[in-house]
Amino acid sequence: MTSSVNFNVIGTIDSPYKEKFAIPRQPGIVTAAQGQLHLTGLANNEELVRGLEQFSHIWLLFVFHGTQSQGWKPLVRPPRLGGNKKLGVLATRSTFRPNPIGMSVVKLDRIEHCTVNSDNRNSKEDKTSQVILHISELDLLDGTPIIDIKPYLPYADIVENAHGGYAQNQPSNNITVEFSPLSLKTLADNITHYPTLQSLIEQVLIQDPRPAYKHHKSDDKVYGMSLYNFNIKWQMTDLTTLQVITIEDAKHV
Ligand code: SAM
Repeated sequence: MTSSVNFNVIGTIDSPYKEKFAIPRQPGIVTAAQGQLHLTGLANNEELVRGLEQFSHIWLLFVFHGTQSQGWKPLVRPPRLGGNKKLGVLATRSTFRPNPIGMSVVKLDRIEHCTVNSDNRNSKEDKTSQVILHISELDLLDGTPIIDIKPYLPYADIVENAHGGYAQNQPSNNITVEFSPLSLKTLADNITHYPTLQSLIEQVLIQDPRPAYKHHKSDDKVYGMSLYNFNIKWQMTDLTTLQVITIEDAKHV
């Protein structure tokens, strides 16, 4: 009997989410999140994805590389239950699992085959071909290693009348997001390269990424998050209104 298996990474994710904080808890929630999946090694071959363009959505199987080193415990506290009830790790979508494997359905926008400059200085070829899957609605940290890709099959993957246990519906936080004049100016200055940045910030913050125990309580803390190369500062102005204070382009600091 096999007690361990090895997988090769077949791709890497380029994501606007540069840190764990504020990433949505599942895919499909933040529709303005766009990323790229770069196929790597032997998988970086257009033959592997021939026909995949027919599908609107794909399953990504990946490694929770950002938390992998922290191990796992049999019981976890799902944020969904306010962080104060323990459940078996396999009854949750926790990132801290016996095998740190995640699965997400993302939108497949297009597949690109392009030529890029080789980063291998010893290579005689200075150009290499690269397969890139342009995806959106993702819930993945930048640099996430991908171990498999499968087409999403609506006839088999949608289960009518399925029970979602303690997470039957998407949580709603009733949050309104406002932007300060200063943050609106930065958005306007960057509209050409980041046309969806405002929607992305809004959709991410509507989820209320603060720890569950802070929800519905007064909170004057200034929070920070990173999206693309921007450092974004925001604060609750009352129980359900949040203001984006500044958006700083980290490249220009
Ligand atoms: N949809 C996946 C699943 O069900 O297996 C992931 C669900 S998990 C609850 C989603 C969270 O995983 C995100 O909010 C983010 O904080 C975290 N996450 C995403 N990519 C990660 C990575 N590569 N390493 C560690 N944590 C990650």
